[in-house]
Amino acid sequence: MGKAALRRTETQNFTEEPRHFVRSSGTTGSRNDEWEIVIGLEVHAQISTKSKLFSGSPTDFGADPNSQVSFYDAAMPGMLPVLNSAAVDLAIKSGLSINGTINKISKFDRKNYFYPDLPAGYQISQLYFPIVTNGYIDIDLPDGSSTKRINIERIHIEQDAGKSIHDLSPESSYIDLNRAGIPLMEIVSKPDMRSSLEAMQYVKKLRTILRYIETCDCNMERGNLRVDANISIRRPGDPFGNRVEIKNINSIRFLGQALDYEAERQIMASESGEEIIQETRLFDAVTGQTRSMRTKENSDDYRYFPDPDLRPIVLTDERIDKIRGELPELPDAKKARFIEKYSLSESDAIVLTEDRVTAQYFERAVSASKFEESPRLIANWIIGELFAFLNKSGKDIDDIEFPIEYIGELVDLILDKTISGNIAKSVFTRMVETNENPSKIVKDQGLVQIRDDSVIKKVVEEIIEKNPNQVAEYKSGKQQLFGFFVGQCMKAMQGKGNPEMINEILRAMLD
Ligand code: ADP
Ligand code: MG
Repeated sequence: MGKAALRRTETQNFTEEPRHFVRSSGTTGSRNDEWEIVIGLEVHAQISTKSKLFSGSPTDFGADPNSQVSFYDAAMPGMLPVLNSAAVDLAIKSGLSINGTINKISKFDRKNYFYPDLPAGYQISQLYFPIVTNGYIDIDLPDGSSTKRINIERIHIEQDAGKSIHDLSPESSYIDLNRAGIPLMEIVSKPDMRSSLEAMQYVKKLRTILRYIETCDCNMERGNLRVDANISIRRPGDPFGNRVEIKNINSIRFLGQALDYEAERQIMASESGEEIIQETRLFDAVTGQTRSMRTKENSDDYRYFPDPDLRPIVLTDERIDKIRGELPELPDAKKARFIEKYSLSESDAIVLTEDRVTAQYFERAVSASKFEESPRLIANWIIGELFAFLNKSGKDIDDIEFPIEYIGELVDLILDKTISGNIAKSVFTRMVETNENPSKIVKDQGLVQIRDDSVIKKVVEEIIEKNPNQVAEYKSGKQQLFGFFVGQCMKAMQGKGNPEMINEILRAMLD
């Protein structure tokens, strides 16, 4: 990333700059022609519980509208909340996995506002005493080998609202309360990000972690991970500028687009002397633009007060320690172990540990191999051939039907010189189509590499005999023809000849 990417000269026409110029955070150059972009994210992650935060209604996705609504969820008079302790445990687990402090006492507050899909007229959240404070995660920077620490201010537990549906008919709007009361954790970062790319990496890393610990499915299309992005600009060294909050972004790509658009808009406005006001904006994925929704309210406007129906959450050390003990190996630790134990490159280790199943599959494949040097090769096969196959066929890694150990076996067939790398590619193709074992494919199709000296010699002799003109040319100095002879020999052996031996024997006979 160019450090000075944000610098511009007077003569450049701003609107002709490529949109992505704002992705870099530059702090070089003279003070007056550069802007620093400041981003903080509020991520709403649906806590993966079977029932809602304060009622026993199910949380299944895709149920008929209003089929998962209890009297409590519909805010019938006299209904009281009962805290779902599984949601609390999962929030604790999430807090531990982002290196946060778990607060032994946390409390619920009512955030009051009117909206048709909020029948109680308030949302129960945690403003003053959240369950988790002061965490951080390390994100991977695009240069491949460095990371940046992004601090996390808090995680609090809150309820989701229902859904208003306006586009079913021109006359009416509808309300679906299935989501009302679904448990969310709001994960609030510090304003530590300096580019849209960092923001995207942050959400990716958070998603990886939450999926590892299985506290949130993080399926953005289903709305169980949503992002509110806060962004402001400033001259480096100045205090923070007024921030704009872009609400409810439901894809990582849209997050990048929304931030890029918004940064550019703020820079243009500032440079033409306009003041940036604190407001809430919406991102329109069709136009790629943000538009104003409302000028931002402050927390005062919500008349927060402690919820009188709920007692504080009081946690014991035993409860926290038990959950700590159940944490799986987290992505960063796994990445470090893969690099150390299997001598993987940093970038391969990042890709393989991005989700837990892929990491597991890799290790299963490695365990099926007899060779010490196989892990790097297995990593190549998974990241190269297997991912290409999954992409093409639209499958996930856990959809594959052959045992992943076969990739370890395939690599062994190359390492013990049973087959060449080229033949291995065709064995792989057949393996993913038929789910057959690679050794069986090699045997059935007679693909075993030819390493018999006398067989190869005979083929080489034939090729030399058949091509007297090329031999003459070669001998008179046309060295490039060597490749032609190799190709002819390979062809005669249907690709099965050992390439090094062919080379060696050819040289001996031609020279
Ligand atoms: P609120 O609770 O009113 O939404 P917070 O101060 O808790 O406000 O901040 C919410 C989010 O906005 C946090 O993620 C924080 O990092 C981010 N943020 C705060 N100030 C700025 C700023 N000047 N520019 C960009 N992001 C900011
Ligand atoms: Mg907020």
